Amino acid sequence: MASDTIYALSSGRPPAGIAVIRISGPDAFALTARFLKGGRLPTPRAASLRTLHNPADGDVLDQAVVLLFPGPGSVTGEDLAEWHCHGGQAVIRAVLGALEEQGRGGGLAVREAVAGEFTRRGFENGRMDLNEAEGLADLLAAETESQRRAAMMMADGHFSRRLEGWRSRLLACSAQVESLLDFSDEDDVPDSGMERALADALAALREDMAAQLAAPSAERLRDGIHLVLAGPPNAGKSTLLNALAGREAAIVSDIAGTTRDRIEVPVNLGGVAFVLTDTAGLADRSEDRIELIGIDRARQAIEAADILLWLGEANVCPRADAIRVAAQKDRTGWRMPAGVDIAVSALTGENIYALVQMILDRAKSFLPTEGSYALHERQRKAVAAMVEALTAAQVNSDLLIVAEYLRLAREEMDRLIGRSGVEDMLDSLFSRFCIGK
Ligand code: GDP
Repeated sequence: MASDTIYALSSGRPPAGIAVIRISGPDAFALTARFLKGGRLPTPRAASLRTLHNPADGDVLDQAVVLLFPGPGSVTGEDLAEWHCHGGQAVIRAVLGALEEQGRGGGLAVREAVAGEFTRRGFENGRMDLNEAEGLADLLAAETESQRRAAMMMADGHFSRRLEGWRSRLLACSAQVESLLDFSDEDDVPDSGMERALADALAALREDMAAQLAAPSAERLRDGIHLVLAGPPNAGKSTLLNALAGREAAIVSDIAGTTRDRIEVPVNLGGVAFVLTDTAGLADRSEDRIELIGIDRARQAIEAADILLWLGEANVCPRADAIRVAAQKDRTGWRMPAGVDIAVSALTGENIYALVQMILDRAKSFLPTEGSYALHERQRKAVAAMVEALTAAQVNSDLLIVAEYLRLAREEMDRLIGRSGVEDMLDSLFSRFCIGK
């Protein structure tokens, strides 16, 4: 439990309608009392409109709604006060200045919080596990609807509850192995029914965990699904990219080879983050060295694409899973080519919406479905390591070795939840938060 009391502006950049100043720690309530006439504190968890006075000189600072959340039931697990002040620059400066003064000479251990410190205290006091803290960081950073949904599933403890379920099953299996080992110490024949039940329980747990490994990646949701536009020069790739991005992102010209290198544009299509890549045209007979490098990069981008839009002849499409697009359908004399999935005109906008729907449909495989979670690399590695340990435990007949693998799985679980072995990553996680969170 921290011995000092921290404060910070927890709401957004002023000026704003309201400024929320949070104070957390053992002296949060004593400090609040100093700012109130007569030192009378409001009832916990009830909003109370009060006048804040500067304890140093009695000056009126502001009228504020004061809320008290006694620990350990608060988000930080400590006594927590919130002052909802007027959101003007000068008001905030005056109130924070008075708090700072109390820290300097007021006899209380009070200081301004560092980034993420309120959340970190919540984590350290057991108010949330590591996955919930990570989810909260993602939620605050979320820019698209799909990022918000995935982060909510983490932040509100959905995934953590599933982990708790797995953890208790793992502990039950371990306990069973230990008791079998006790039996064998006594030279007793282990009950084979019990062993079968154990094997079944291990198999079921391993299967549940392995199913989660098919979950989409949180990094992909955050960084965007890679949508690559490729095809020969002048197919209309840059123009289509601009139409999808809704802005002039790529240079459009009718001189073949204008897009010499890859252009990457982040866009939000239907609430999902994408990174659109416009590639150099795949001309076969270019003499220009720089253009050739561009073509080489285009080939790499085509291979690495999550979704490929192919704007060339359908029979030379480089990937079987590409969406084959016939572009420029408004041109006079245009005829529908064979083997395409959709024909569009970036110029008139015809079928662009239908193309976006087609892209979103393909994107579904990168999004979490009902009951699955978007996992970060860290979480995926931990689940994979548990699956590996359980697989090894399953195929071993020596109970001592089984016990050892189960111990490894438990260690991995503790790291995943944040109970141990994660000190090195906490600083980097909590520095992702802003001051006041
Ligand atoms: P890229 O080389 O594949 O990127 O092709 P661009 O997007 O640069 O387009 C090549 C030429 O075709 C430019 O002159 C564009 O203005 C023109 N163009 C692209 N899309 C359309 C379209 O939908 N309709 C018409 N009429 N012209 C287009």
